[in-house]
Amino acid sequence: MRIHIRTEDKVLERTLANIAALFADDASVTVGPADAPDAEWTVALDLSDLDGGVLARAALVEAGGGEPVRIEQRRRVPDGAPDEERRAARRQAAGAALLEALERRTGIVQPWGILTGVRPTKLLHDRYRRGLGREETRRELRALYRISEEKIALMERIVDRQLAVLPDLYDLGHEVSLYVGIPFCPTKCAYCTFPAYDINGKQGSVDDFLRGLHEEMRMIGDWLRRTGTGVTTIYYGGGTPTSISAEQMDALYALMHEVIPNIERVREITVEAGRPDTITPEKLEVLRKWKIGRISINPQTYTQATLDRIGRHHTVGETVEKFRLARKYGMGNINMDLIIGLPGEGPEEFARSLAETEKLMPESLTVHTLSFKRASEMTRRRREGDGDRYRVAGREDIVRMTRMALEWTDAHGYVPYYLYRQKNILGNQENVGYAKPGRESLYNILMMEEMQSIVGIGCGATSKFIDPATGEITRHANPKEPKAYIESWKRAAEAKIEALDRMLERRAAAL
Ligand code: SF4
Repeated sequence: MRIHIRTEDKVLERTLANIAALFADDASVTVGPADAPDAEWTVALDLSDLDGGVLARAALVEAGGGEPVRIEQRRRVPDGAPDEERRAARRQAAGAALLEALERRTGIVQPWGILTGVRPTKLLHDRYRRGLGREETRRELRALYRISEEKIALMERIVDRQLAVLPDLYDLGHEVSLYVGIPFCPTKCAYCTFPAYDINGKQGSVDDFLRGLHEEMRMIGDWLRRTGTGVTTIYYGGGTPTSISAEQMDALYALMHEVIPNIERVREITVEAGRPDTITPEKLEVLRKWKIGRISINPQTYTQATLDRIGRHHTVGETVEKFRLARKYGMGNINMDLIIGLPGEGPEEFARSLAETEKLMPESLTVHTLSFKRASEMTRRRREGDGDRYRVAGREDIVRMTRMALEWTDAHGYVPYYLYRQKNILGNQENVGYAKPGRESLYNILMMEEMQSIVGIGCGATSKFIDPATGEITRHANPKEPKAYIESWKRAAEAKIEALDRMLERRAAAL
C-alpha cells in the first residue's frame, strides 16, 4: 500500500506521515508538495488561517478513480494567541482531517486518534496542573485529539492512581531519580533494541565496564552530596542487571550504599531480573542482603514455542521455578512482563499466559503490545523474507487481547498505573503497567510522566533533565556499547554534571 499526502506545509510532514502509517502495517507513506504518480491513495491537504481559527481540508483520491472522500476540520485560535498555540491548532486540524479521511476509507477507527507520541497521560497531567476540570479535559481530548472514550477512561484511571501513589508528584522536581544501565544479557531476544550485549565470554569487558560504572556512580554521588539533592527512586535496567555475577552485584550495591547520600530515604530500588535464566540463589541472597525491594522476572509468554522463536533461550518452567525461588528468598514485590502479539500468538496463547499468571500472582504485571522496532532482528528478518516465522495476529485480535488484559487485571485486583506507546505498535495499542494497589513502580511513573529529572549512569543510559522554569527537557546519552562506555564514561559523566549544575542555577534563578 502506497499512501501519498500532498501538502505545502513542510512543518507538518512528519506528523502527517505518522498518522497515515497507522492505517496499514505495510504502508509506505510519502509527503510532499507534488503528486506521487505511483501512489494508490493520495490525500490532498490544504490548510488556511482564518480569523479566529484554522481550517484543514482533506480530499482522499484513489488511483483507480471514484468519488473522493472529503473532510473539513476547524480549530479555534483566540485572537492574540501565541504562535505556538496557532501551530498546535494547525497540527490538530490537519491531523484530524487526514485521520477522518483515512478512517472513512478503511473503516478502521484509531483508538488514540491523532496521537502518535509516547506519553499520552502527560496531556491529562498538563491540564490538571493548569486547573482544568475533568469534564473540560475529557472534552478537549475528544475534540482536539479524537481519542476514544475507552482510552480516555484508561488514562483517567492511570492518572488518578499516580496521584494517589505519589501525592507529591507535581512537587518532586527538586529531587532526581537514578537509572543504572547494565548492558548485558545471556542472549539477545529477536524483538529487542535495548543495549544488550551477549555476556558470555566477555568477562574482561564486563569487569572494565563495572570499573567505569563504579567511578561514574561515585561522581554522581559526590554531586548529590555537594548540592544536597535527594534521590526519589533508583532503577537498575539494561540489558539484564542480574546477568553479572552475585559478587559483582554485591560490590555494586555496596558502593551504592556508600556513595548515594541518605539512601535510606530513597523510596524504591528496583532491579530488573528480567531473564529467569540469570537468577540464582546467590544473586537473590545479594538482593535480600541489600534490601532491594522490587524485581522483575519476565515471562513475556507461557508458550514455549514462542520463547524459542523469539530467541529467549529459557523455558516456561524456568520462569515459574525462578519466581518461586525469588519468593523463597523473600522477594515481596515482583513484576512480570507479558507481551501481546508475539509471533504466532493469538487470544488462545494470551489466555494461557493470563491463566499461568494467576497461579503466581505477581504484585505487578506489565502488559506490552509488540512493536516492530526498526533496528530489531525480528524486523530485519521480516523484511528479508522471514515473514512466516514472525507472523503476528491481526488488528482485531490485538484489540481483543488488550481488552482481555484489562478485564483480567480488573478481576484480579490490579489497577493500571502507567502507560506508554511506541511506534509501529501492533493494532495502534499501548503498553500498560498494572499493579496491586501500593505495589506500583514509582520510578516508572516519574520517568513516564517526566515530572522529575532522571540521572542515567552506565551503558546506554539516557539522562533527562527537566528545566525547572520552562519544563523543557534536555537529554544526555551515555555510550551504548560497553567498549565505547569504557573509553568515554568520564567525559560523559563530566558533561552530565555540568548540565546538572546549570539546571540548579536555573532553578535558583526561577525561585
Ligand atoms: S532480556 Fe530484555 S534487554 Fe535482554 S535481549 Fe531480551 S529484551 Fe533485550
